[in-house]
Amino acid sequence: MQAKRILILGGTREARELAALLTEEGLPVITSLAGVTENPVLPMGAVRRGGFGGAAGLANYLESAGIGPVVDATHPFAAQISAHAHEACGAVHLPLYRLERPAWRPQQGDLWTGVPSAAEAAAALPPGARVLLTIGRKEVAPFMARGDIGGVARMIERPPEALPQDWTLLLERPPFSVESERTLMRRHSISWLVTKNAGGAGTQAKLIAARQMGVPVIMVERPAKPVVQAFATVSQMAAELRRLLSP
Ligand code: NAP
Repeated sequence: MQAKRILILGGTREARELAALLTEEGLPVITSLAGVTENPVLPMGAVRRGGFGGAAGLANYLESAGIGPVVDATHPFAAQISAHAHEACGAVHLPLYRLERPAWRPQQGDLWTGVPSAAEAAAALPPGARVLLTIGRKEVAPFMARGDIGGVARMIERPPEALPQDWTLLLERPPFSVESERTLMRRHSISWLVTKNAGGAGTQAKLIAARQMGVPVIMVERPAKPVVQAFATVSQMAAELRRLLSP
């Protein structure tokens, strides 16, 4: 009988690293991507793209595709797919793990205000704020609607609407260096940084630059996700899967 495949719910660097590690070890892995990014960086091993059709659709997929363990390695802000994974794995009795990079924590010298949503982040900015906005293309609307703030909106792919003239659009992929973040913030006279607590090293440089320059930060905090066994690093997650799958 064919070995059960490991399903990685992906869309993150950690998901790609886990897929590469397990594939190199000869373990049967399939990564699932939502299919929302036009040119995603593809992981090693098998890949499927597109939604499952809710928790029930995912449960059907898990059974029909011969999946064993499921690793939810989605982005900390992708709340819906994590809830669906929890429900679906419960329904078909499959083990579910989460691979999740730890959240950033404020350090000495940081001027952070935590807020629960992008809308509240937009409301918290003072009139005239010059903002470096790094929260993804789907959540820029409340900032653009303000009319009395401007700055730089950085994202990987173009937003659905053109930005107002007080905003500069930057289409860039991480990682970024502290020096380049400082240069960007200086060049655009940035007085506020708005970001979401994604965690991870690739996008942390802006927080260090803000600390060094005394720029206050509005931090959108992570949504709640179902409680499952979680691992913070790819190597810890891989070790657990090896243990689980060893004869
Ligand atoms: P979401 O709100 O949690 O999910 C929305 C719907 O997209 C889900 O109900 C599911 O559709 C589908 N979906 C999401 N992730 C999927 C996956 N890995 N494989 C198959 N279907 C998936 O997710 P999101 O915030 O839109 O994020 C979408 C993807 O982008 C995620 O895979 C995530 O890891 C990645 N990402 C998100 C962010 C972010 O800030 N949210 C940042 C970087 C990367 P069905 O209900 O039809 O199954």
